Amino acid sequence: MLNINRRDLKMKKVLLFTPGPVNLAENVRSSIGKKDICHREVEFDRLLISIETKLLQVFNVDTDDYRAVVITGSGTAANESILSSVVGNKHILILSNGEFGERLNKISKIHNKNTHFLPFPWGEGFDLKKVDDYLTKHQIDVVAMVHHETSSGMLNSLDDIGLLTKKHGATFVVDCVSSAGAEVIDMEKCNIAFISSSSSKAIGSYSGLSFVIGKTEEFEKLKDLPAKTMYLNLYTFYSFIKKYSQTPNTPAVHLFYALEQALSNIIDKGVDNYYEDLKDKANLLRQGILNLGLKFLIEQKNMCSILTTVCVPLNVNVSVLRKELRDKSIVIYEGKGCFQGKVFQVGNIGELSINEIEYFLSSLKEILNDFLLIGNNDLSAVEGIYINDECRIEDEMVRMEL
Ligand SMILES: *Cc1c(COP(=O)(O)O)cnc(C)c1O
Repeated sequence: MLNINRRDLKMKKVLLFTPGPVNLAENVRSSIGKKDICHREVEFDRLLISIETKLLQVFNVDTDDYRAVVITGSGTAANESILSSVVGNKHILILSNGEFGERLNKISKIHNKNTHFLPFPWGEGFDLKKVDDYLTKHQIDVVAMVHHETSSGMLNSLDDIGLLTKKHGATFVVDCVSSAGAEVIDMEKCNIAFISSSSSKAIGSYSGLSFVIGKTEEFEKLKDLPAKTMYLNLYTFYSFIKKYSQTPNTPAVHLFYALEQALSNIIDKGVDNYYEDLKDKANLLRQGILNLGLKFLIEQKNMCSILTTVCVPLNVNVSVLRKELRDKSIVIYEGKGCFQGKVFQVGNIGELSINEIEYFLSSLKEILNDFLLIGNNDLSAVEGIYINDECRIEDEMVRMEL
């Protein structure tokens, strides 16, 4: 049934069941070998504009009202570009329910002295009443959040927060690094000014590039704000693409070829089909994991279609599990922060076939069976280790931050 054996895998590839970087499509891999060009010549202008056009197409926004800039640097560069460039001397509120929300706060605190932080427990949704109250009591000009909080796998709702930002007249910016290319992001409907993402997650290209998509009128507004960084200044990126169809500094030119190819692959397949395919793979993976008697950290309906976060059964050591999988050429993620040692994460983006997903499931089964024999463990004993107390941030702490 499975036409993969271990020797093939060793020769073929390491299977990246991670939320990125991913196994690349062959045409993406070969695209970086295209001809050498100068980033101040018309060939690069055409390449950048082609990428921008494709990004706007994938995100289903009107090319008259939106623009996209591409930054050389991983997803964090795009986040830092937004957070350093849209707040000025005004007030920003960071909503957080995990590691990546906390990172937004850390970045913002470096650039913006008026950074407000409203944390919620990891693995739980935002309390909309608390957000609304906060926005009522404080003058907040910008609200930032993570769409797919990769640390727990929770897909936060953009509609609800979008409505609240509209009601309170705040600019809304969203880290979509791990959801872009997998989930519908309706920037217009959700009142979003800017989103950030990267080349190497659901978009399916090499790591090393990130991008920001924003409303043209919002980009224009940045002109009058004080510059807090030279290299990542979002207005500078915007003015360069607008005036010259170029980037302010030397870009990683060959990665632009790869990003263009990855976006073409999505468009050729059809954006909706691409999303559906990821959902189907996630469902196959999830059903298989449930069949082994394992439990998920959060409910399936709250998950993004790129990643599944699984509770580690009692007495199973996640580092050993990872190593055993690695011996079978499979790479998964460990939990971060308060989830460390308590969960493992399995991605389903990139070039992973149905066969390879089934190979992962049978390998996982084999390894867990070994654990059971050694540890005399019961796989059903995983309930009750969900979100531990360390992850619950007390109201006390919220108040201290303010
Ligand atoms: C991966 C990721 C990032 C960016 O991480 P990089 O290592 O800079 O690519 C930011 N936010 C979220 C939600 C992510 O999943």
